[in-house]
Amino acid sequence: MINSSFSPKKYFLLFGILFSIFSFAQKKFTIVLDAGHGGSDHGANRYYGDLGTVREKDITLSVVLKVGRMLEKNKDYKVIYTRKIDEYPSLTERTTLANRSKADLFISVHVNANTKTSPYGTETFVQGPDQNKTNLEVAKAENDVIFLDEKDREMFASYDPKSPESLIALKIQQSKYLESSLLFGSFVEENFVKRDKRFSRGVKQQNLHVLRLNAMPSVLIETGFVSNYDEAVYLASEKGQDEIAESIYQAVLSYKKALERNGSASAPREVEKPEEKPLKNDFRILLMSTPTKYTSTDPALKGLNYILPIKENGMYKYYYSTTNLASVRDNNLKTAKDAGFRNATSISFVPNQKLGVGYYRLELAVTAQKLSSNSYMLNTVKDITRTKENGKFYYTYGRFSTLEEAVKMQKTLEDKGIKNTVIEKVLK
Ligand SMILES: [Zn+2]
Repeated sequence: MINSSFSPKKYFLLFGILFSIFSFAQKKFTIVLDAGHGGSDHGANRYYGDLGTVREKDITLSVVLKVGRMLEKNKDYKVIYTRKIDEYPSLTERTTLANRSKADLFISVHVNANTKTSPYGTETFVQGPDQNKTNLEVAKAENDVIFLDEKDREMFASYDPKSPESLIALKIQQSKYLESSLLFGSFVEENFVKRDKRFSRGVKQQNLHVLRLNAMPSVLIETGFVSNYDEAVYLASEKGQDEIAESIYQAVLSYKKALERNGSASAPREVEKPEEKPLKNDFRILLMSTPTKYTSTDPALKGLNYILPIKENGMYKYYYSTTNLASVRDNNLKTAKDAGFRNATSISFVPNQKLGVGYYRLELAVTAQKLSSNSYMLNTVKDITRTKENGKFYYTYGRFSTLEEAVKMQKTLEDKGIKNTVIEKVLK
């Protein structure tokens, strides 16, 4: 029985304080283990008469669980799994989990495949601009996974990894983890060669979604080719999986030792700074204000992701990202400036604020010619308003009292295939 004046909420708070003190004192080296694919996404697979179907998702899970068991025996390590069973967490879920847990290292385990049966060997990828075209195959195979998932599609829809501007932004964001990622990757590949007598194809830089959003050193390990019979035998065997797991485990030990030698183990920033409290308001970065309407993939937006245009008094204001954390806001502002928006500024938004005078609506289309009555848009959305101004036709929809409601409707319409709508603030 709990004393009624001592509510569960207070217990929770007390527990929270004790827990932070405890974790403050005992910061463990946190490793996120990501078994590639899973659930309905089998990854690479091949059928062999004597082996049956060898599936990437089974090998990755088995290897990851083995690595985890080894690490968990050592109390200096904390292990977080993106999955422990045969399921498919979206790539966004995987990286969000990793970022939230403030992990020190992210290891994604995969199995390679080729249309030919001859290629074999291991390779480890770190996040970075593509070095050469031969890596494209891997990028394609591993990134394609993303498009199986609706949530991910939303996240990555406006990101063009090929634009030079986004590569620059990417490079800046990732460069601080690149060195550590390369170091860990080199330990992994070295172990595969020296311990397991495998053939290493090296450590490579590649622009892979699952690594791109991670705010920590991250690698993607291709443990061998399922399309090569000898490697398929090895990958499917207990012995092979044990060796791969041991090599990855030993690489983690070497990596941590190397960090300790450099005096930078276990992300010191977390120990020095208490956890950041969210701010009351949301912050978006205003990139520019212009009469021109751009679609999300227009080069004028320099490959930046998460752009929200809001129209006001005939001008389109382009906002980048949203956050209620001061550190993220400052980082977003820097990213915008680095991408070339030198006059970018951070703008504060009160969440769910109702417009005192006026409302929000969606601008669905602006056209020179009147849309035909059997157009997809007019037939999909009812009650569209058409107005004519300066010889152009404006198609608008809805009346929303908050920005959040307008954003929600925008998403609903996007799901119906009506894209590139713009939220308009109508002050009357
Ligand atoms: Zn894979």
